Amino acid sequence: MGEKVAFIGLGAMGGPMAINIIKKGTNLSVYDIEKEKMLPHIQLGAVPGNNIRDTVENANIVVTMLPSTENVKSVVTEPSGVLSYIKPGSIILDMSTIAPIFTDELNKMCKEKNIDFIDAPVGRIVSHAISGDSLFMVGCDNDNAFKKIEPLLNAMGTTIIRCGKVGSGIRAKVVNNFQICSIAQITAEALTLAQKVGLDINTFKEINKGTTAYNGQFQMNFLSKVLKNDIEPGFTIDLAHKDMGLAIETANNFRVGLPVGSSAQAVYSQARSGKYAKKDISALLDYACEIAEIDPPRITKSID
Ligand code: NAD
Repeated sequence: MGEKVAFIGLGAMGGPMAINIIKKGTNLSVYDIEKEKMLPHIQLGAVPGNNIRDTVENANIVVTMLPSTENVKSVVTEPSGVLSYIKPGSIILDMSTIAPIFTDELNKMCKEKNIDFIDAPVGRIVSHAISGDSLFMVGCDNDNAFKKIEPLLNAMGTTIIRCGKVGSGIRAKVVNNFQICSIAQITAEALTLAQKVGLDINTFKEINKGTTAYNGQFQMNFLSKVLKNDIEPGFTIDLAHKDMGLAIETANNFRVGLPVGSSAQAVYSQARSGKYAKKDISALLDYACEIAEIDPPRITKSID
């Protein structure tokens, strides 16, 4: 890959994604406000930035993988941000999950500076980011720009879905995460009820698997996290709360009602007000069991 790439935001997802790019032979410049997050990348040969300016000024592709709309706004648009230092003709590839309305604004600001903006938020979970098996929802109407970022996406994932023009990737992500986060809450409630009425969780997972109740939160996430007694993130309840907020805000903008999702969002608000904020989304199960005053279920047999 001949491109000069800067990667900003090396957290649970961005950290392993950047490592997979380095492993495919691209020497990255990297930046995270938490300096220790850069250490694994430095060990693999990445160049650490002291600030955004020296991270991006020699790059022609800048990748951002940051928690929220506010973070992307400050990193990209503030006077000391990416747009002040990136060269015209370069590409900003935002992979964060943020408000679609702000993605549209960013695209406009980039156009004014002759920068190509692409939104490519990420599907699947941290384990996929680590193994290089992520899914990307890409909003990009410029095929030349897409060709430049395609090798990076291939280094980080296995599935690239082109959703349409700029902004369509983030719209797809917000709608899809709305399903994921709502289903996680339904799964937590169902498993709490299963526990309370005395069902065996090992048997219940087979029933779920064999019927239309089948869902990835139960079968992929809960079974590999909370049900194995691991509630460390993963995808935090805080981030899921943010994503539900993005879906509800977007639905309000377009006059679409999300009554069931809005109830699920209320649970996320409560769960994040205490000790579960930074725990994995599957910890919704422990939160629900706490309220029901029962021991949370745990898997006892090996899972396939
Ligand atoms: P994270 O909180 O683990 O990582 C974010 C990183 O950004 C942190 O290392 C933080 O220090 C850094 N950061 C914050 N502000 C910064 C700034 N001003 N300058 C430089 N670095 C800064 O979050 P994550 O789980 O990696 O998620 C990142 C994005 O991906 C979010 O939008 C999230 O919704 C989305 N996402 C997460 C998952 C998941 O399973 N965790 C899956 C798909 C998508």
